[in-house]
Amino acid sequence: MKQLKVDAINNGTVIDHIPAGKALKVYEILSPHVKKVTTIGMNLSSKALGKKDLIKIEGKEISTQAVNRISIVAPSATLIIIRDFEVFKKTEVQIPKTITNAVSCPNIKCVTNFEDIETKFIREKSSEISLRCDYCERLFSLNEFEV
Ligand SMILES: [Zn+2]
Repeated sequence: MKQLKVDAINNGTVIDHIPAGKALKVYEILSPHVKKVTTIGMNLSSKALGKKDLIKIEGKEISTQAVNRISIVAPSATLIIIRDFEVFKKTEVQIPKTITNAVSCPNIKCVTNFEDIETKFIREKSSEISLRCDYCERLFSLNEFEV
């Protein structure tokens, strides 16, 4: 793998291996919390994915809740925390076993869409990863979520 260029970032986060075309969606998730996005790279070459997107955020390590939402949009992404120009931590984005209050339920009749309660989804794995709502108990594939 080619060395990732992180020299533009002093402290912050790089989200790498975002599926091509999803960078803006990931940016939407981050934008309420991030004032300054250093770089959005789109359609970059990637050995693993063919094409990929990438986002660099200066001066900010993103919250767990944001990472949970990003995991639904970009389950293949890699999260790289930069401190003092060096890679401090590198992790694969993973959909957690339970996702609380990060996304709303795609079932418009679900009680969570009417009442002020936190949504909760449980990860299930059959042939592909899907999420089950803890309230209406329906099972959803990742692309059914409005993130
Ligand atoms: Zn539901």
